[in-house]
Amino acid sequence: MSPIQSLLQDLHHRYSSLSEGKLASYIPELTKANPDWFGISVVTVDGQSFHVGDVDQQFTIQSISKVFVYGMALEDHGRDRVLKRVGVEPTGDPFNSLIRLDEASKRPDNPMVNAGAIATTSLITGEGPTERLNRLLAMFERYVGRDVYVDVPTFLSERATGHRNRAMAHLMLNFGMINGNIEEALDLYFQQCALLVTGRDLAGMAAALANRGTHPLTGIQAASPDYIREILSVMYTCGMYNFAGEWAYRVGIPAKSGVSGGILAVVPNQAGIAVFSPPLDENGNSVRGLRVLEDLSREYGLHLFDLSLGRCRFGEALLASDGEN
Ligand code: GLN
Repeated sequence: MSPIQSLLQDLHHRYSSLSEGKLASYIPELTKANPDWFGISVVTVDGQSFHVGDVDQQFTIQSISKVFVYGMALEDHGRDRVLKRVGVEPTGDPFNSLIRLDEASKRPDNPMVNAGAIATTSLITGEGPTERLNRLLAMFERYVGRDVYVDVPTFLSERATGHRNRAMAHLMLNFGMINGNIEEALDLYFQQCALLVTGRDLAGMAAALANRGTHPLTGIQAASPDYIREILSVMYTCGMYNFAGEWAYRVGIPAKSGVSGGILAVVPNQAGIAVFSPPLDENGNSVRGLRVLEDLSREYGLHLFDLSLGRCRFGEALLASDGEN
């Protein structure tokens, strides 16, 4: 067996008995997840893939969608206009925090917290809600390489209970941080969060980001190479909620997590990695996902600032590996 496949199997085995963490319950539909689901996928920029566990289990993408919608807003409006509407400062606050939305703040802090993500979604252009949704789905389809669907029960569940997100949108409207129809913006945000993906999909999406926007398995250009740097920068500084600093320190690769238990990580110019396991820690990050990615980063020297020989180990393992092509 190739070294990468065998390490993924070891990690899966090592952490499948870890039973810490809780399912997210503030979106009632998410409590239907099976806490035992656990999958790990790696897709490299040269088109090899390695998978172990529940990599074909569908789940809703949740906050991981924020990364891709941010990319789309950048393509729709350019960097300067987007920066005027949404900042790029990490908050150190929980993802759903309201406390920085006040008269003094000109814009939400960053596109990875909910307030910033709702503002980002409100920037997506299109004539009316249907066209905006279709544009958004088409963007995700380029990343996934097939048709994608919104999970309607999860969308309705969040729409019915998302009072906090609705409150953020109202506050931002009141302070002039967003304009337009906020109910439509919220619907589009809840729809993007309810998009169904698998771990296999997420690793490919991450690999497209690692590969300057082109999906290594389909050859489809999912995003323009122009904004990959901006996307990866906000993932690096803000992608893991109020654990982002510690994540950058310990794991050192751009990543984004979601409350359904996915984590997507990008090793620039090398690979996309996805871990899916629904139980979350107190910050809202997948417990097993954190452990797997920390071990993988250490084992293969993936930390961006690991300037030691460790940096080459992934390349060596890849040369000795023969993943699915
Ligand atoms: N849809 C979720 C919300 O807005 C996404 C949050 C997340 O994954 N952290 O609360």
